[in-house]
Amino acid sequence: METVAVNSKTETEVRADRVLHGLPEKVIFCSRCVMSNQRPSTSPELRKNNSKIETVAFDEDGVCHACRYLDIKSKIDWKQREEKLVQLLDKHRRTDGRFDVVVPGSGGKDSAYVSHILKKRYGMHPLTVTWAPHIYTEIGWKNFQAWIYKSGLDNILFTPNPKVHALFTRLAFLNLLNPFQPFIIGQKNLAPRIALQYDVPLIMYGENQAEYHNKISETQSPLMDRAHYTRERDQKLFFGGMEMGELMRQHHLELADFAPYLPIYRDEAERLQCEIHYMSFYHHWKPQENYYYAAENCGFLPNPERSEGTYSKYASLDDRIDGFHYYTMFIKFGQGRAMNDAAHEIRDGHITREEAVALVHKYDGEFPKKYFPEFLEYIGITEEKFWETIDRNRSPHLWEKKSDTWHLKHRVS
Ligand SMILES: [Zn+2]
Repeated sequence: METVAVNSKTETEVRADRVLHGLPEKVIFCSRCVMSNQRPSTSPELRKNNSKIETVAFDEDGVCHACRYLDIKSKIDWKQREEKLVQLLDKHRRTDGRFDVVVPGSGGKDSAYVSHILKKRYGMHPLTVTWAPHIYTEIGWKNFQAWIYKSGLDNILFTPNPKVHALFTRLAFLNLLNPFQPFIIGQKNLAPRIALQYDVPLIMYGENQAEYHNKISETQSPLMDRAHYTRERDQKLFFGGMEMGELMRQHHLELADFAPYLPIYRDEAERLQCEIHYMSFYHHWKPQENYYYAAENCGFLPNPERSEGTYSKYASLDDRIDGFHYYTMFIKFGQGRAMNDAAHEIRDGHITREEAVALVHKYDGEFPKKYFPEFLEYIGITEEKFWETIDRNRSPHLWEKKSDTWHLKHRVS
């Protein structure tokens, strides 16, 4: 009834008054972990945004696919998976002085673990590659240095032009409330670009994020789909919600300003026979154990204090403006950093659901005030503009205002 054109609006327009960002209108929390169905699944970031998006898949019993995947995972023969890894590495290992595997990473616990075992346990010759954070934290820089020195690894640290990167970050914040979009694009496309330059067909990532957000069918392969990191020669690209050509005209940019962000061409990837594999397909992936391994072997240090917006101390530590990635997600999807961490730890068997709910209530959506002035300065906007952008992106199906304060309508319980 309500969609009938009382004020001659179409159904889509009426829905847009209630639901922003193409999210599902009904909010569900997983009955096993605490994940919300509002979380977007991994998707190509270069397409036009704010069209209908795919979110975390749930089954008819209200269980998210990440939890369902656990049932499958518990039956995996990990010995057999490791044999497959050995076969893969035997095929790629080189003794002619060239690198044989590219490992993208920041020197956090996961990339430290992956690169270290590839070199020490499997006798590979990794080239590690790092897309620099927006602004390094002290602990992030220390961990990055310790990783390379203690493990004895070669590394290419790529720092994008800060003027261009800050502009893209500002646009992505203002147009999409997704300030980390340029970082994510750059980081994702760096390893294939380097692989192409160094003629290394094999790239090894740590964890397959699709295990958490996508359909189970997408977790049955060790490979990342080439469509995620390549482009067609005539493909239109979008940055910060703007078409590339329009962005060039409006902001007087050159093609070279985009070079670090562009995916390699599909035909180039095919010629190289480029393959991106996930270590989590071959090794039983346990973040806490990676942490112990990285601490012991790669000099990895946790944060001396907990990160804002969550209770944890050992993930995502290297960028001063990281907190705004999670905070903007919390505003757009009602799902923040603590929910993410807690859902993961339930699945790993470290905490109960009850404990997770309490942690989410306590920390999710905590404002990252520590680096707020630096974030504003980095993207070049006023505090007023910041809050105006935040509030404009609160979807009515998630948020309500009571006595001048914003509240989430649905909280996990
Ligand atoms: Zn779940």
